[in-house]
Amino acid sequence: METLPNKKQLHSKNKLEFRQFLLGDKKNSIIFKKKIDEIRSKIVKYEVVIDSLFEERAKAEQKDIFWHEASIKNYEEGIAEFKKEIKKFTYYYNMSRGKIKKEVGKITDEDIVRAKEVPIDLFMPCNASKQSQNRKYYKCPLHNEKTPSFVYYTDQNSYSCFGCSIAGDNIDLYMKLNNCDFITAIKELIKL
Ligand SMILES: [Zn+2]
Repeated sequence: METLPNKKQLHSKNKLEFRQFLLGDKKNSIIFKKKIDEIRSKIVKYEVVIDSLFEERAKAEQKDIFWHEASIKNYEEGIAEFKKEIKKFTYYYNMSRGKIKKEVGKITDEDIVRAKEVPIDLFMPCNASKQSQNRKYYKCPLHNEKTPSFVYYTDQNSYSCFGCSIAGDNIDLYMKLNNCDFITAIKELIKL
């Protein structure tokens, strides 16, 4: 039976070994895909529960509303966790299919510091729709949308998208936009 990598493999001190494990065998992609589907169906179940909780809340007496809201919040937090899991397994999935560019070689701490300083708007694939003092607004390059919900915080060099509920720093964004791993992102960012 196919199994997911165990904790020891996932948290292996030898990351290179783990990467080779992921990349080495394409059958891993089937396992990761199954895992992603599994989590997606859990999300659907949670959403059904949340819908019914909202219905109950609408009918509830004032004194009970708090409890309904608390359990809605619990389920919503559960969904947020599932989404993080999906992100992780999607990365593993792409990696096992060899879809993530992988650069072999070392980077230094100084490279990372330099990479962190590269401003996000230097590699954004589109222009800002509007801007204020510390923010620039874009149409999100990670999902399709008509009105801009992607915010670039210029003073922190970080971003968040209210459409896809994700946020991160410039390195994280570069990895997502270019479908590459951390080391590749650092190496490419410092060349910009
Ligand atoms: Zn988005």
